[in-house]
Amino acid sequence: MSLLDKVKDAGVIGAGGAGFPTHAKLAAKAEYVLLNGAECEPLLRVDQQLMEIFPDEIIKGFEVARELVSAEKGIIGIKGKHKKVISILRDRIIKLQIGDVLEVKELPDIYPAGDEQVLVYELTGRIVPEAGIPIQVGCVVVNSETALNIYNASIGKSVTEKYITVSGNVPNPLTLKVPIGTKIIDVLRLSGIDNFNDYAVIDGGPMMGPVMKSLDGYVTKKNKGFVILKKEHPLIRKKSVEMNQARRVNRASCEQCRMCTDMCPRYLLGHGTQPHKMMRAMAYNLEDVEGQKIAQLCCQCNLCELFSCPAGLYPKAANLYFKQQLMEKNIRYKASKDNFEVRQAREYRLIPSKRLIARLGLREFDKSAPLTDITIEPETVCIATQQHVGAPAISNVNIGDYVEAGDLIGSIKEGTLGATIHASISGIITDIENNFITIRRE
Ligand code: SF4
Ligand code: SF4
Repeated sequence: MSLLDKVKDAGVIGAGGAGFPTHAKLAAKAEYVLLNGAECEPLLRVDQQLMEIFPDEIIKGFEVARELVSAEKGIIGIKGKHKKVISILRDRIIKLQIGDVLEVKELPDIYPAGDEQVLVYELTGRIVPEAGIPIQVGCVVVNSETALNIYNASIGKSVTEKYITVSGNVPNPLTLKVPIGTKIIDVLRLSGIDNFNDYAVIDGGPMMGPVMKSLDGYVTKKNKGFVILKKEHPLIRKKSVEMNQARRVNRASCEQCRMCTDMCPRYLLGHGTQPHKMMRAMAYNLEDVEGQKIAQLCCQCNLCELFSCPAGLYPKAANLYFKQQLMEKNIRYKASKDNFEVRQAREYRLIPSKRLIARLGLREFDKSAPLTDITIEPETVCIATQQHVGAPAISNVNIGDYVEAGDLIGSIKEGTLGATIHASISGIITDIENNFITIRRE
């Protein structure tokens, strides 16, 4: 079986949160393959620890990716502040005798260093065109946990577990490995909090992650972390505002100071993203569809809303509002050129992570969340058939079947984009409905 088929059969998807099927990404040819080890979301601690604990596996998985896309060079991007991890990785690259094709480059401690397009620029000096993807400038990007999963796939191990950080206003911030399909609430309780009545949970990092409406879900391959805060924390209050409320406030209060635009990471890369214009369009009900198209260039990093705007308004929501309207009408932005140049002021407008963490009111929670060997052994798991970009996996098991951990339980329909899914525990299939396959431990 080819290496690409092994990656496909193991159900590897982008573990950084995007969930794009990795075999589809690695079917391209590229000059560079980049490892995204930036982990720029405050309080999340998965990638930096995986690179320290499994350097050989991640490097070998990354090498598989490099070979598959026929890249001349692989570059591991990691923040310069992680000195120990950098030294481990550099040492292992030398010992594995692959220093001619792999190197480690240090990233600045800024947000959002892990945005794919910022990462591509920081590591290669190339700028992905507006509304484009890294392959347009010869780059393929994989996350560090994805590289670990690629390595596992190369030795025949499917994706059945996920590394997750649980942090925030909790007694025991921690990072751990859990079977996919585990109840999220069981993972959250390991933080030392039992009763969540006074707490809200962010699914993912504090910048881009949404506040969970219910804690009843199940872990998927896309989860990276959960940030638990008191319901009255300003970040939770700000992130809980509904679109209608955001629109009302935006209309009344925007002073058109442009700070949201001038500090926008995509604007600083030379793209046309200009949230202050979306605020203006919202305030005056402008019908200018052509002008609204730049809303589609927003990567929803949330910097404008949670850091840049001095009035505490919702410029990202303004982008999102017009983005959705245009999507409904099937109107898409088309870049008018291929070559972009960073704005001159970029280097002075990068946002240091520490300042961002202070602004978010998270300084007291910015602690380590050590990777533990705590194991969760759920009695049942509910495995979603859609944990990825593309079509849902099609169940190939029946109620009553016995499956071993690692067995294939859902396949990709021929000719469609998608990812396979596998049993994360050994047991009996008890239910197949509502886009979940349930397994009870035997
Ligand atoms: S949304 Fe905020 S930062 Fe942007 S122009 Fe209006 S007031 Fe200024
Ligand atoms: S969320 Fe705001 S800062 Fe981020 S890309 Fe969109 S407009 Fe720019």
